Amino acid sequence: MTDVNTAAKKATVACPFCGTLNRVRMDRVQDRPKCGECGRPLLLDRPVAVTDAAFDRVINGSDVPVLVDFYADWCKPCKIMAPLLDELARERAGQLLVMKLNTDLNPNVSVRFAIGGIPTLILFKNGGEAGRAVGAVPKSKIEALVGPRA
Ligand SMILES: [Zn+2]
Repeated sequence: MTDVNTAAKKATVACPFCGTLNRVRMDRVQDRPKCGECGRPLLLDRPVAVTDAAFDRVINGSDVPVLVDFYADWCKPCKIMAPLLDELARERAGQLLVMKLNTDLNPNVSVRFAIGGIPTLILFKNGGEAGRAVGAVPKSKIEALVGPRA
């Protein structure tokens, strides 16, 4: 018997090695799912890079909320935020996807969401923006943005 309420939540993520988009069951992220194309591991307990090209399919293809970190390599406050986001991705593995978007390499999405300063964190739910935090913020503020743990 299939119950839609207990059906596994899935997400669409790009393989960091070959770029292929994979559908991944969120209740299995700890089992280290592998890329269907190149066979290398898809590690979702840490921030995953997302690009202009894959953005819409990734955001619209996720049954769990997606937190996107808009950053750049030269941005010092972004570096301060990075370990907090690593921690969050680990703590919320299976419930939340943490993604990072390099604003220098992916200008289209950055312009579309009117990113004025970095770091900017945007929470997406069901494909739409559900909240954002601008600037380097403490972990408590990120927690408040993404909401309580399931
Ligand atoms: Zn791959």
